[in-house]
Amino acid sequence: MRGLLLCTVLFIHIFVFAQKSETNYWVGKSTGKLPALLYGLGDDRLGGTKMGYIDSNILLLVIDSTKELYTVQLSKYHKAFIEKNYIRQDSVFTVKPFSLTGSFLVKGDSLCDYVSVHMDEHLPYKSWMEIEPSKIMIDIYGVQSNTNWITQLQSVKEIKNVYYNQVEDDVVRITIELKHTQHWGYSLSYIGKNLVLRVKRQPAILDIKKMVIAIDAGHGGNNSGAEGIKRKTSEKEYTLLYAKSLEKNLKKLGVKKVIMTRNTDTSFDIKDRILFLQEQSPDFLISLHFNSSANELVSGVSTYYKHIGFRPLTQALLKRMLELKLSEFGNVGNFNFTLNQPTDFPNALLEIAFLSNADDEKKVIDTKFRQDVSLKVILAIQDWLKQLHN
Ligand SMILES: [Zn+2]
Repeated sequence: MRGLLLCTVLFIHIFVFAQKSETNYWVGKSTGKLPALLYGLGDDRLGGTKMGYIDSNILLLVIDSTKELYTVQLSKYHKAFIEKNYIRQDSVFTVKPFSLTGSFLVKGDSLCDYVSVHMDEHLPYKSWMEIEPSKIMIDIYGVQSNTNWITQLQSVKEIKNVYYNQVEDDVVRITIELKHTQHWGYSLSYIGKNLVLRVKRQPAILDIKKMVIAIDAGHGGNNSGAEGIKRKTSEKEYTLLYAKSLEKNLKKLGVKKVIMTRNTDTSFDIKDRILFLQEQSPDFLISLHFNSSANELVSGVSTYYKHIGFRPLTQALLKRMLELKLSEFGNVGNFNFTLNQPTDFPNALLEIAFLSNADDEKKVIDTKFRQDVSLKVILAIQDWLKQLHN
């Protein structure tokens, strides 16, 4: 019994240790625009692999640092990394002997379903999607369960079941089973003493005309993107032309609402695009880009997703785009592109073709091809929605 207790409070001991010792351990809180926890020290063109975004004011125990990152201890056996500008030191944090989860409340309002988890502190978490059956999973770190009530109300429409497991001495794993195969998005944040999961529901009518569709024209302003091999035209100009063509065709079809991240050649920070889209809450997002490679023989179309629950739209897009006699570069998962990171709504990155390949570039500058791409994207959306009926 004593041994067990020692185990369960070890992480809390680290907290106490951090306060009392002369070591470099210190407690901070997450801050800034979309703070993210990273899995490791790896890096690539688009940044390190993210565990996911976290809310601001999350308590983090900093135990080490590299040039740009802090190492944070999430629980006894789990660490993560975070960019230094996403943490501010917190000197007023008072150490408690342990931290607990309390009751859960599962309910719905006119728009969404919610799971509220009562928490002693704003502790770090990670979440992910699972499919077949569709679930949202949340791990909360540095906490012991004292959850003896999971109240579930009739107002819930998308959530099927909610349950948890204390998978480690100081990690609580919550499983949220969903009713539909397709994930429509979720967000996680602290509201007062509760960690609140907001789950978007499947739209009542799966008709493209009833959808709120966000289109992102990649790059813009002082961010030109890739450059054409023959014409030296920049990617930002084509993404805008293609986005506008898609918008025009969607509106012609009678689509309820089309949200554009930009309509002109303007700079729009990519994280600000996420914040803008989170506020707009579209049913889904398609981001348009053109690819580029140092090897000019590389060509073709590709689609990208990060979260497995959002894969089907990217598969539908690739399938239709391949009808345009483009070669297949592939359907790419776990991708690190910033606009693939949000869990709030299904999102797909479509890299239409390679500007660094002469044949692809020739297609891209052709206005007939541009119109064809718009029509194929629309057919892909319709294919995707139709398969959700089955
Ligand atoms: Zn691009």
